Amino acid sequence: AHFNFLDMLNFVIEDLQRTTERHTLIQNFENIGSVFADQERIGQVLTNLISNAIKYSPGATEINISCSVQGDEVVVCVEDHGIGIPEDKLNRVFEQFYRVSGNMQHTFPGLGLGLYISSEIIKREGGRLWANSVEGKGSTFCFSLPLSR
Ligand code: ATP
Ligand code: MG
Repeated sequence: AHFNFLDMLNFVIEDLQRTTERHTLIQNFENIGSVFADQERIGQVLTNLISNAIKYSPGATEINISCSVQGDEVVVCVEDHGIGIPEDKLNRVFEQFYRVSGNMQHTFPGLGLGLYISSEIIKREGGRLWANSVEGKGSTFCFSLPLSR
C-alpha cells in the first residue's frame, strides 16, 4: 500500500533513539511524499540498519540517517562512526548467518540474519541494498526503492 515515507522514517528513528543514550540519531530528509511498498517490512529494514549502526558503534557517536530522491528512486542511507568492516568482508555481510569475525566479535551479540533478511525484503520491493565501510572508521548502509509504482 501507499504510505507516507517520512512519517515511517520518523517513527522508527524516534523508537530507536529511545534505546540509546550514547548515540544521537540525526536526520537529513528530502521531502518524499508517499511510497508504494510494504510499510512494515521497510520499517523492519530500517530498524535492522539503525540497530546495527548502534550495536557496532562502541563510542558516543552520531548516526546520520538521510533520505533523498535520486532519479526514479528514493535512497535511504544510515551512516555510523563505529568499528567498520574490513574491505574483503564487506560483500559477505549480506549472507545468511555471516558475521565478521575478530577479537571484538563476542561483545556484539547477533545471529547474522538482519542484513540477509533486509536484502531479501528490499529485493522483493524492487530496490537494492548496499554498503560502504572503512575498518576502524565506520560504515554506511543504503537502500533504494522505486518511486514509480
Ligand atoms: P542480527 O541477526 O541480530 O542482525 P548481526 O547484527 O550479527 O545479527 P547482520 O545484521 O546480518 O547480523 O550483520 C552481519 C554482520 O555484518 C555483523 O555480524 C557484523 O559483523 C557486520 N555489520 C553489520 N552492520 C555493521 C555496522 N554498521 N558496522 C560494523 N559491522 C557491521
Ligand atoms: Mg544486525
